[in-house]
Amino acid sequence: MANFQTHFSGAAIAGVLSSSLFLSANVVSIHYFLACLCLTIIGGIFPDIDSDHSESIKIIFTLLALFFSTFSLIFVTNHASLLICIISFFSTYLVIRYGLINAFRHLTSHRGLFHSIPMSLLISILIYMLSHWGLKFSSLSSLVFGFSFLIGYITHLGLDEFYSVNFSNVKLKKSFGSALTIFSLNNIIGYSLLYIILFSLIFINPIIISNAILIKNLILKMHIL
Ligand SMILES: [Zn+2]
Repeated sequence: MANFQTHFSGAAIAGVLSSSLFLSANVVSIHYFLACLCLTIIGGIFPDIDSDHSESIKIIFTLLALFFSTFSLIFVTNHASLLICIISFFSTYLVIRYGLINAFRHLTSHRGLFHSIPMSLLISILIYMLSHWGLKFSSLSSLVFGFSFLIGYITHLGLDEFYSVNFSNVKLKKSFGSALTIFSLNNIIGYSLLYIILFSLIFINPIIISNAILIKNLILKMHIL
């Protein structure tokens, strides 16, 4: 299993390459370069939130807590007093950062559903929806944000598999095959639910497919693939 620094560096490299590619193909403007890079790095550390004491779970839940507490502040700011705004901000932060994180630790196991291809696609689509439906970015830009996160996520899963090979005596470690998972008979209900949610989200966002083809065509026009 690769450590935090390896995942961070791997995702940063993948992020610079993919964001430059999106920029060169005119899929996004220069303003979004940094956003794409950050999303790839977040995607690169995200899967280890299923590891109870990892750096990843602390960072991701701190980011989530800050994001949603800012949202709650914006939501109440026009209707409530300063005191209520402050209470709303800090209570949302504390509930997510110290409450939800412990519930999440109890519900997940390391190298479970979060180390799988369908989960990487599901969370990337949720990022697309949050960006397009919630933050009102264009569908194309939102899809690039989702793709950037997905590239980081897949880089993480690939690195975990790579580090599952013992190169000194060319043997596979026990962990081999537990990161780039498509389906596992050990968790039939979990994976079935995951695929049902995934296909439902694609069904209610059909523009994802047409925009993905558009991005592919824009990149192919560069004659690098
Ligand atoms: Zn991992």
